[in-house]
Parts: sequence; structure tokens; C-alpha cells
Amino acid sequence: MNQATYDFIVVGAGSAGCVLANRLTENGKYRVLLLEAGPQDRYLWIHIPIGYGKTMFHKVYNWGFYTEPEATTNHRKIYWPRGRGLGGSSSINGLIFVRGQQQDYDHWESLGNRGWGWKDVLPYFIRSEHNTRGASAYHGADGPLWCSDIGEPHELMEAIIRGANELGVPRNDDFNGATQEGVGYYQLFTRNGWRCSTASAYLRPAVKRANLRVETDALVTRVLFDGRRAVGVRYQQGGRSLEARAAGEVILAAGAIQSPQLLQLSGIGEGRFLASMGVPVVRDLPGVGNNLSDHLQLRVMYKVAKPITTNDDLRTLSGRARIGLKWLLFRKGPLAMGINQGGMFARILPESASPDIQFHFATLSADLAGARPHPWSGCTFSVCQLRPESRGTVMIRSRDAQEPPAIRPNYLSAEADRRCAVEALKFTRRLAAAQPLAPYLVQEYRPGAQVRTDEELLEFARQYGATIFHPSGTCKMGSDPAAVVDQRLRVNGIAGLRVADCSVMPTLVSGNTNAPVVMIAEKASALILEDAAMQ
Ligand SMILES: Cc1cc2nc3c(=O)[nH]c(=O)nc-3n(C[C@H](O)[C@H](O)[C@H](O)COP(=O)(O)OP(=O)(O)OC[C@H]3O[C@@H](n4cnc5c(N)ncnc54)[C@H](O)[C@@H]3O)c2cc1C
Repeated sequence: MNQATYDFIVVGAGSAGCVLANRLTENGKYRVLLLEAGPQDRYLWIHIPIGYGKTMFHKVYNWGFYTEPEATTNHRKIYWPRGRGLGGSSSINGLIFVRGQQQDYDHWESLGNRGWGWKDVLPYFIRSEHNTRGASAYHGADGPLWCSDIGEPHELMEAIIRGANELGVPRNDDFNGATQEGVGYYQLFTRNGWRCSTASAYLRPAVKRANLRVETDALVTRVLFDGRRAVGVRYQQGGRSLEARAAGEVILAAGAIQSPQLLQLSGIGEGRFLASMGVPVVRDLPGVGNNLSDHLQLRVMYKVAKPITTNDDLRTLSGRARIGLKWLLFRKGPLAMGINQGGMFARILPESASPDIQFHFATLSADLAGARPHPWSGCTFSVCQLRPESRGTVMIRSRDAQEPPAIRPNYLSAEADRRCAVEALKFTRRLAAAQPLAPYLVQEYRPGAQVRTDEELLEFARQYGATIFHPSGTCKMGSDPAAVVDQRLRVNGIAGLRVADCSVMPTLVSGNTNAPVVMIAEKASALILEDAAMQ
């Protein structure tokens, strides 16, 4: 195979990039180069679900970004993990399978994005999915991405479900079925107790194909142009600067932070801003890096009366040996689960027609998500607003591709978001006070009983709110002046260049983002192949 010219070059082997690499090489007609800045995914803790705690602050497998200090969150720099290496963030994420609400996609369509309504995207969700429950009107059983039940009820989780029922929230055994509203256990991206990243689901089966070349430790620094056509990329690997040419297209799948960064470094972005950075302007596209949207999680933690939490399992050598053995023998138990076991989608604002908050329930507690668990029995009720109105930015600081861009999420800047944060915290307390939880929850550790008024609750959100890892929207799809890509994900005004990852979401989906990104990449692959067949 000619090493320098390809039909398609995919930048980033994350959730989206691995899907694209597989689907674009499937028919054998096209030569594809997949470039990934990070390494192979050979670290064992990537593949064992509870390894989430080990990769959260890992220096190699995690980009470990920080946001800029902002007044809305008390001038804190907030930690933003992002996966680095094959599988990208799907190799380090919390494994929770949620697609969002049907209304999210119908909303995208109502914004002018034809082909992205719920009826249009459902077939791509189904195509991607291997659900261990089997196929149904909402689920696939033949796709590469495994979604499995946790399969083990937990005493505390059962009490939470009964508590939520008392507040009028029904049990829901399928958040990806007919309706999202309700409380229950999550399904996880696991296959027989192992993490099912997109690298293992999509890339591994494709990697032996003669028409796919995968390069790791290859940081793309620029898209190369011939006029207004993308013709290749420049990348750094092993201390060398290399170039690869694309006869067809360059597809950016570097994620919601680095796809806009790469566009800006390549001269696509707001013209005056690029000029101020010393970047020659290829296309003045003001939307690049704007419209950043994320879910802000508020983690309410409790001390638990019984030693039944994962804190207890992990505290002692015998506990660790027991759960280790359980995983080795049966591929079950806390090691097979990541951190969060159950969830809830509920409605708290009067104006909301569908659930506006999501809970992640963990039978574990730690001061920071993914950090060392507390030395006492503890649990966490993490709550986030599903459709925040606050918008932020991702902007380069220099022409150096190695330098992380400035990330400004601007959390809690919208009035509705502040109101939702306060109401969400009050609702969490009502849940904790429900009778079925009385035997379990002994003390609210954080925020703590001293935090009482609405002002104090909002101050807690400003002081402790953190990301639940769903940045999106920074190269948004649409037809308005702020849009970066069109409904076929082509960069506006540039030939041969698309973006296909979390950054193209016009609005953030009401849930976790891995399954939606996989769907976006499945659909993007179909669009790319369709267009290539017309050439
Ligand atoms: C800690 C954490 C927990 C999460 N938990 C969940 C969860 O439980 N459920 C869920 O659904 N979602 C979860 N998410 C979110 C979800 O995983 C992401 O939204 C999704 O993986 C994003 O996919 P992506 O393809 O847009 O980007 P990524 O998967 O981040 O992929 C981008 C890839 O591009 C590479 N790259 C970047 N820049 C360059 C460059 N210049 N050159 C070459 N390569 C480059 C990166 O190294 C990376 O591999 C979580 C995310 C994190 C970080």
C-alpha cells in the first residue's frame, strides 16, 4: 500500500474514529489512514471496568485538561479528563449506556438538520449495538458495541429505587427504550465483564484489513489545503514531522476539545482571532470553538450505616482479594462495573416536558470523581442538569499543537441552569429523606447540613460542581452563521473536510455521550461512503 496517499484520513482513534476506521474500510474499496496521538491500549486497567479510577488521572492515557478559572465557578480550574490512545475517551469512560431522549434528535432536526431526527438516527444506534438482552424495536443484537446488564442487584440501589418510587418516579428497566423517565440500573459497555471500548468493538476486528493503516503516537498538527480543499495532514511522530495525503477526504474525530483546536491551528475559525494568533486564515468560520456545552455534575455524598459499599470492599486487603477473585472467577462484582450502578431521569422544572435531570448513583464515595474512596462506608448521588443553556468556548492559545487550548465552559452562567442546580440539590435531599433510605443514610457528608438556603446551595454548586465529562458542540452542525459543519458533516466552505465526533452536536443530548457519538460516526460513515460512490 502506498504509505503517503490514502482515500480517507481519520484524525483521532477515539469513540468516533474507531467506528469510522472500521466502516470506511469494510467494503475493501478505500485505503484509510487512522492517526492517533496517544499509544496502543495495552494497559490492563483500561480493560477492567473498575480501572476507571486508575485511568482518571493517568499521565499517558489521559490528556488531563483543566478549564480556565471562571467567576461562575469561583475561579476554580476544573479537571477535564479526555482519553488518549486507541479507543480515546471510550477507553477511560464510566461505561454507561444512555442514548439521550428521542426529543433531542427531533430537536436537532427542527433546527434544520435533515436526516438527524429520532426516526433517522435510531437505525444507526441499532446497527452499532450488541445488546445482551437481544434485539427489539429499540435495540440491536448484531452490532459491534456490547451493552450488558450489571446483573447483580445491590441492597442500597434497591433502597434508592424504592425511595424514588415514593417521590413518584417509576422504575425503568430500560433508559434506552420507549421512555427515558424513571429509576433503575444502567446497562454498561461491557463484554463478559471486560470494557467494550470502540477500539475493542470496532478497531480490533478491522485492524488486519490490508486497506487500513493505524499509526499511534502520531499527533496531527495541521490540515493541509490546496486552496479551499483539504488534501492531507501534517503530523508529528517519533520526533519527526510527516505528511500524509488524502485523495478523498480528511475526517476530524479528535473530540470536542481537539477538533476545534485543529481547525483553528489549520486556519479555520474566526478570522480576526486567528490573525491575532498569527495563523493564516483559510476560512473565516466564527463558530469554530464556540457553543461549548457540558453537563455539570453536583455530587451529594452520604455516610452509609452498613459496610456494604465499594468503599468497604476496597479498604481492606481481604476485601480487595474477594472482589478480585469474584471478577477472575465469574467476571462479576465491583471490578466488572466501573463506578456508577444505577441512574434516574426525572423532571423538576415546571417548564420541562421531559426529564431535565439525570442521577448517577454510586455505592462509593470520594472527594473527587475517580479519586481514592473515603475510609468509611459511603455513597454518591451525582445529579446533573440535562439540557444546560450555558455555553462556553475552546480557543487555541498559540500556534503550537502541543499546547492545550483554553477551555471556558461558562457553567451556571444561564439563569435556568442556576435554578436547575438549586432544585436538583433540593430534590436529591428529598430522595435521601425518603423512608426506604432511612436504614442506610446516616449523614450527608457533602454539601452537609449547614448548607440550607437556595443561595447556599447555589454556592455549593459553584464551589464543588465538576464536569460529568460530556463536552460537545464546538463544531456544531447546522445552517445558521454559527454552524461549522452542514448536515452531512462537511466543514462549511471547505471541500474534502468533515468533522464527525462529539463536537458536531448542535445541542447536548439529554444523557451520556458515548452511544450518541458512536451513532454520529456510524451515520457519518454512511454519508461519506454515499458521497464517495457518487464521485
Ligand atoms: C472520564 C470520562 C467518563 C465518561 N463516562 C461516560 C459514560 O459513562 N458513558 C458515556 O456514554 N459517556 C461517557 N463519557 C463521555 C464519552 O466517553 C465521550 O463523549 C466520547 O468518548 C467522545 O468521543 P469522541 O470521539 O468525540 O472523542 P474521544 O473519544 O475523546 O476521541 C478523540 C481522540 O482523538 C485523539 N486526538 C486528539 N487530538 C489529536 C490530534 N491532534 N492528532 C491525533 N489524535 C488526536 C485523542 O487522543 C482521542 O483518542 C465519559 C468521558 C470521560 C472522559
